[in-house]
Amino acid sequence: MTLTTKQLLQAYDVLTQGVVCLDDNLRQGVLVYVESLLVEQGMPRDKYLSLDDLRCDYPFVRMGSYMPIDFFSADSGANNVAASDNDANFKPISIKLCTVSLQDGPRPAHCWQMMGTYRADHVIEAINALLEILSNKHYFNYCATCNMIRPTGYLDEDQVCEYCCEELLGAA
Ligand SMILES: [Zn+2]
Repeated sequence: MTLTTKQLLQAYDVLTQGVVCLDDNLRQGVLVYVESLLVEQGMPRDKYLSLDDLRCDYPFVRMGSYMPIDFFSADSGANNVAASDNDANFKPISIKLCTVSLQDGPRPAHCWQMMGTYRADHVIEAINALLEILSNKHYFNYCATCNMIRPTGYLDEDQVCEYCCEELLGAA
């Protein structure tokens, strides 16, 4: 899997927006991996990801692990040693996505779905899956008015976010 620069930029925008929550086992490692991806691709940016960005109260994406992950030896198989005590199907890492629907009533309906589970030694694959979800226009897109990235459930058919809609209504 290779993300285009544009996709990677969108994923980064979602991450800096504070709608992605990573647990203590993953936060630091994911941040380092994503930052190194951007440096590798020489991507210009005006903001840097902070650990606080990845710790939020009302997330739309949750990624966690039941056990500590050794990011630095993910490729060398050190996690295999730990995992070999369990069976190969033990997948402690999970990614969940919350989709929003404004259609069915006065209040937004939130629905959490499991997007994938991963073995500890497949953590890089898991992070790539996370980035793919964040860069997917089906789940997140930019508001046509304020250019803030939002879960698509909060965008109307003209791709305008709920904040801008309210402002437009207020002005009317
Ligand atoms: Zn907007």
